[in-house]
Amino acid sequence: MDPTEREEFTREFSQCVECLGPRGYESEVVNYIKNELKRIADEIIIEPNFGNLYAKMNGNDPNAPSVMLVTHIDINGFEVINATDDGLVEFRALGDVDPGTLLSKPVTIHTKRGTTPGVLTFRPTGLRSVQDVGKGVTYEDLCIDIGASSREEVTDIGVQPGDPVTLYWPKQRLITIGDGKSVSGQGIDSRMQVFGIVKAMQIIKKEGGVDSTIWFSAETQGETLYLSSHYATLDRIRPDIALVCEAGFVQPLMDVHLVTTRTGGGPIFRTAMGIMSDTGGFIMRRRILDLMEETARECKVPYQVSVWGADQPGEMFNWVCVTPGWGPEGIPTAHIRFPLRYKHHASEVQYIEDYENALKVIVAFLRKIHAGIDLGSK
Ligand SMILES: [Zn+2]
Repeated sequence: MDPTEREEFTREFSQCVECLGPRGYESEVVNYIKNELKRIADEIIIEPNFGNLYAKMNGNDPNAPSVMLVTHIDINGFEVINATDDGLVEFRALGDVDPGTLLSKPVTIHTKRGTTPGVLTFRPTGLRSVQDVGKGVTYEDLCIDIGASSREEVTDIGVQPGDPVTLYWPKQRLITIGDGKSVSGQGIDSRMQVFGIVKAMQIIKKEGGVDSTIWFSAETQGETLYLSSHYATLDRIRPDIALVCEAGFVQPLMDVHLVTTRTGGGPIFRTAMGIMSDTGGFIMRRRILDLMEETARECKVPYQVSVWGADQPGEMFNWVCVTPGWGPEGIPTAHIRFPLRYKHHASEVQYIEDYENALKVIVAFLRKIHAGIDLGSK
């Protein structure tokens, strides 16, 4: 992208990032996807119980395998529990941002009346000596200061138990850094995947479609770990192949030496998830990984194969592959990740060229699927 295109990307991507959407509060991003795809999709379904969105674009060849592009669409956030007598707001996590990185970060509480800014602080009983600030901080140590001095004042401002909370103040969620070559903000995981899938479908449509029918399954109600809404997908979509889209950890990342992936290295094909965890796991089949690598080579973009994830919980990846509703044999599943620095931290950093290269691979992968293609199932 040249500087003008990067500016355009940042402006468009900001709209996606700005949508409210901690776990369970994803309707704004569902509406965003609906608006972006309503002119090109042949069918859009909003699943009534969980609120998942499924957008279908018919393929040009009824015999070609159908492809499901799938991502979670929530971002890390918090939820109000209560107020203390001295006017601090107690909250719990909806996601897994490291609490040690949160002190003094700005937040927005989304009340029924509108938004209220606040700042994350220690609760009074959690006060520490200056040297110990930030050490071993847990969520129990933290509260939100909204400038109130009593429980009544908190109520008067309109803050109630159950109100969702997001990091940063409104309209501060995404900025460009590094001479415009990267964007930084919170919620890039999952909004990069949402934005990328929307763009891929728009590009495919503009080119007159591909052989395969494409489904976008935008799944709500939780980072990949909670999985509940994925069951709702079973009754709606029976794809022949799935492409799971996610954000991928890259260095620098403390204590995780198996993460060999880096910024600027191109899309990540992670080979396994959860194979050593309680939830069970899955290893990407060799034929599918070959197909992904072949696609990246044809696109002339760099790519990275990552083996990290074997000891991580199952995630959507292996659930898609082995979901019993799709039969005991599951479905062939490919897995692509947008490299993301500081994933799940208060400020994430996305190198725009990595986004571009991942998008190229997704589009080329969709073009590559045709009737009779060897997916390694036989
Ligand atoms: Zn994610």
